[in-house]
Amino acid sequence: MKNILVTGGAGYIGSHICVELLNQGYGAIVMDNLCNSSKKALARVEEITGKRVKFYEADIREKSAFDEIFTSNDIYGVIHMAGLKAVGESVKEPLAYFDNNIGGTIVLLEAMKKRRVKRMIFSSSATVYDLGGEECLKETSPLGNSTSPYGRTKSVIEQMLTDIYASDNVWSIVMLRYFNPIGAHKSGLIGENPKGIPNNLMPYITQVAVGKRERVNVFGGDYNTPDGTCVRDYIHVMDLADGHIKAIRKFEETGLFVYNLGTGCPQSVLEVIHAFERANDLQIQYAIAPRRAGDAAKYYANADKAGEELGWKATRSIEDMCRDSWNWQSKNPDGY
Ligand code: NAD
Ligand code: UDP
Repeated sequence: MKNILVTGGAGYIGSHICVELLNQGYGAIVMDNLCNSSKKALARVEEITGKRVKFYEADIREKSAFDEIFTSNDIYGVIHMAGLKAVGESVKEPLAYFDNNIGGTIVLLEAMKKRRVKRMIFSSSATVYDLGGEECLKETSPLGNSTSPYGRTKSVIEQMLTDIYASDNVWSIVMLRYFNPIGAHKSGLIGENPKGIPNNLMPYITQVAVGKRERVNVFGGDYNTPDGTCVRDYIHVMDLADGHIKAIRKFEETGLFVYNLGTGCPQSVLEVIHAFERANDLQIQYAIAPRRAGDAAKYYANADKAGEELGWKATRSIEDMCRDSWNWQSKNPDGY
């Protein structure tokens, strides 16, 4: 069996990837310091799959933690998801983001190099693009100056990985640029579990639906878009997980690969709110609020390259995403 080390595997996206890894016959070895997640997510992954996740509660910045992980396990490759991800917090605490995301990745890469495990999938983001330019983004679209320290960590790590491959082309590195992951596993056992007030749109909507917040503040109603609200490319987290499974096949080749993971279907904030209402037969209170600093009006993925080279395509609709997000939230109103 091929074992995949998943850093940050107890998190929102990581837990869904673990389900797919186990379902597809891979071993899932999770390394997570639980700074933004719960061990319960992994117990739920085991409940869904009937298989075991091997868990190490450890920080990727801790060099010595890798000794045990790499000596006790035969690791085929790494899916690297561990990191901090709150854009606003990163503006206030840039050093914490550089230390955790960039510093942690350096320690991880050194450990991998030492053990000659030179296969990595990295959780990158659409935020690496120039988001004020083209709306439909291809992997070759211009990269930008990120508007936040968080975004900058993704750009820097992509550049580091590019330099590492250039220095030693035995590596197989896949950089996956996620658009806007939402949704949850259809069981409702795992899902997104933000701490405090949600920063992102879908968890905010589900918290309004469950009665925890009064209304959704729609950040900006005067953008140059059909209904005046921002447009994004929302992708079901299980489609995203499937993209990672397909990307693992690239580990059989050496190379540096980059793919967008999105649906290619642009949706405005109001369209998402209305899709949520339709999918769940619920009413969501909302009000147009001032624009949020740093938001681009509109961008979405051209995901053709992942289709052509990985045989991957998102299959779930915005209604599926809204239904599964609500299924998770309504079954777990207080998270894990
Ligand atoms: P998440 O916070 O739920 O998961 C990240 C996990 O990493 C958490 O479980 C956290 O405890 C762990 N972690 C953080 N720092 C760590 C460290 N130093 N050592 C060990 N573990 C650590 O976030 P998520 O939404 O699942 O995102 C996963 C990855 O995908 C992140 O790298 C994120 O930047 C990236 N990403 C997310 C989105 C999104 O919208 N959710 C979009 C693009 C990219
Ligand atoms: N948004 C909003 N209200 C919220 C949270 C988000 O109107 O409470 C908008 C935000 O301005 C953006 C879109 O929803 O246009 C998606 O935001 P999110 O933070 O989920 O992801 P981002 O695209 O910023 O990565």
